[in-house]
Amino acid sequence: MQNHIARVALITPVRRLFDYLIPNENQPTLEAGMRVRVPFARGHKVGLVVEVTSQSEWTLAKLKAISDVLDDSPLFDTVNMQIRHWLGEYYMAPPGEAYMNLLPKKLKAGEPALLPSIEKWQANVDGKLLVTNQAKRQLALLDWMGQRQVSLVEVKQAGFSRDLLNKLQESQAISRVELRPEGSISKQVNYRDLGLTLLDEQQAAINRITAQLNQFKAILLQGVTGSGKTEVYIQAMAKALQQNQQVLVLVPEIGLTPQTLQRFAERFDSEIVVLHSELNDTERYLAWLKAKMGLARIVVGTRSAVLAPMPDLGLIILDEEHDISFKQQDSLRYNARDVAVKRAHLQQVPIVLGSATPSLESYYNAIQGRYLHLKLQQRAQQSQPPQPVVLDIKDQPLQDGLAPRVLDLMAKHLDAGNQVLVFLNRRGFAPALMCHECGWIYECQRCDHHFTYHQSPRQAQCHQCGEITPVPRQCHSCGSTQIIDWGVGTEKLEAFLKQRFEKTPPLRVDRDNIRGKGQLAQTLHEVKQGEHQLLIGTQMLAKGHHFPNLTLTVIVNLDNALYSADFRAIERMSQLLVQVAGRAGRGDKPGQVVLQSHHPEHSVINLVCQQNYEAVLSYLLQERQAMMLPPYQFWAVLRAEAHQPALVEQFCAQVTELLKPYLQHHYQQVILLPAFPAAQEKRAGKYRYLMVFESKQRNQLNAALKQLCQLIEAQKGLSQVRWLLDIDPQDI
Ligand code: ADP
Ligand code: ZN
Ligand code: ZN
Repeated sequence: MQNHIARVALITPVRRLFDYLIPNENQPTLEAGMRVRVPFARGHKVGLVVEVTSQSEWTLAKLKAISDVLDDSPLFDTVNMQIRHWLGEYYMAPPGEAYMNLLPKKLKAGEPALLPSIEKWQANVDGKLLVTNQAKRQLALLDWMGQRQVSLVEVKQAGFSRDLLNKLQESQAISRVELRPEGSISKQVNYRDLGLTLLDEQQAAINRITAQLNQFKAILLQGVTGSGKTEVYIQAMAKALQQNQQVLVLVPEIGLTPQTLQRFAERFDSEIVVLHSELNDTERYLAWLKAKMGLARIVVGTRSAVLAPMPDLGLIILDEEHDISFKQQDSLRYNARDVAVKRAHLQQVPIVLGSATPSLESYYNAIQGRYLHLKLQQRAQQSQPPQPVVLDIKDQPLQDGLAPRVLDLMAKHLDAGNQVLVFLNRRGFAPALMCHECGWIYECQRCDHHFTYHQSPRQAQCHQCGEITPVPRQCHSCGSTQIIDWGVGTEKLEAFLKQRFEKTPPLRVDRDNIRGKGQLAQTLHEVKQGEHQLLIGTQMLAKGHHFPNLTLTVIVNLDNALYSADFRAIERMSQLLVQVAGRAGRGDKPGQVVLQSHHPEHSVINLVCQQNYEAVLSYLLQERQAMMLPPYQFWAVLRAEAHQPALVEQFCAQVTELLKPYLQHHYQQVILLPAFPAAQEKRAGKYRYLMVFESKQRNQLNAALKQLCQLIEAQKGLSQVRWLLDIDPQDI
């Protein structure tokens, strides 16, 4: 008997596959990895066939038949299907999510997985005879075409118009041909060598990486800012491309790294296909198909590109591996870095994780010998990255957040014609609005979080839920009209610096002022050229940019991290500090970095400023070990939320009770900490609680969580509480 049952992954919250009968005519050809349209509830859904089998646990009479088979061949190869399966198991996601989540919308909707044909033109035999001698331009175009098939783009590049092409076609001197893009795959990518003299460390890194091609190896490339990691990537990529392999490059946020893309484009004569969230549906669909068909030899993408099908994949590069934007924070909460390592493992290809400030997880893997550990300790062109200097601001008269000595220093650098960056990670004019008479603070009712005051446009914004309201005229508590703003945001800093440094007006680079990747790319370009001497920047300016004229970076304040409840806050603070510091002194001129702090004695601040990031890593690792925190234990968090606090508390108590016997008898290696409210307990009107699970054994943790899902889903009456599991959470 034929295999006549398909097990299909459908996007639903239900944690199982769905069985359907395969119509007779499709039985011989249907394979795992193809999409089908199936009847579901009262409508239809597109799903992915995960297995073709002869058995079902349901009675056959109950099964419905597949309505349509949408693909002639599988969208994914076996390995890609395996990774998707793993994704579901590891992150406790319903199979529909795991198999379908990372697909372009159009493919989820059932559109054909086919690139449109390419339109070209070709001269007909004796076509020239059909054109009059007066039509000089038409004849010239015909001569230029010769025997070749040419595209509209090529015609235009050669200086001819579409109109000329139309005229030739009307007189039948040429014909239009449609070519399938599959026919034009060229696996050859030419690489432009710049003849750079590599540093020894760079050359060694390239050799070690390329020696690992064609097998699995995870490699941590730890290189100080400006050490030429990108050059190492490029030369390692060149080697893989030469072997006719494809390369996948994953970056945190494409909008923030236009320079990286440009550098690849300069070095490889191949279309660099990008896959990221700012593309529209059609662009993403086309880029994805190009990757799948092997037309794209280099794919640069953000986290959602991590499973892009690439038949010849030979190398994965993941830049800024510590960056939290690799972690998806809603629905399927995967970490693209960890998925990428798993993918490399299953596909037997090397993966390079690069960073100046590696995460503790990757660093731990490297020093344990699980990852190959490569270091670049020298800057490629310039002096060493500047060592930040801490400035104690206790008791200092601050002017909109800045100490007098800092202002003097800024004046010195600006007078010398250099660029200065003032880093402040707080958008808006002021972080709070307060009543001068009674101390009342204007808070968002949905979050119990203070509103940020924005001046342009003038309004109060909740940075937790996005709520926007007018600025109150009166105190809601005592009625006073003396509402003052408290603290300093980038807008206020801008207003102040504009006055203070009249000759060099500041440019504010934050999400409110610079919108969209076009504007950011343009701004970065101008800054790189030395325009805008004085910069005010948030996160947007922290990453990877190379500004040769920047000689002073001022970090207004990072003290928040020192009081945070999140055990990762200090790690993040030191990463940010090192990254921001690394923006200065990248040209011929040495750089200077000043960090203002109320806690200059803090050990991590001292380690960053007096030693280096590696010293911070060792220190933090010891601390994590003492407290048995990740990476010494694995963590998972159940996040629950509801409109009433009592409901969430009750839910947590109930879940704890349900799970207790299992933890006692089956999963003794799993510890469930008592439930506690999230640091930001109320957000957008919902009360949020966390339940932390920890274990030294990944397998037990995974099994216990599976059990937990079953227990919760089997309980009726818990439905007013929304919950989800976050494996390896990045924030608490
Ligand atoms: P990273 O990514 O490690 O911060 P980059 O790759 O941006 O560093 O390199 C910093 C600068 O040094 C870039 O302008 C790059 O072109 C240049 N560079 C890299 N390697 C070399 C080299 N071997 N010789 C000269 N310049 C180099
Ligand atoms: Zn809010
Ligand atoms: Zn008041």
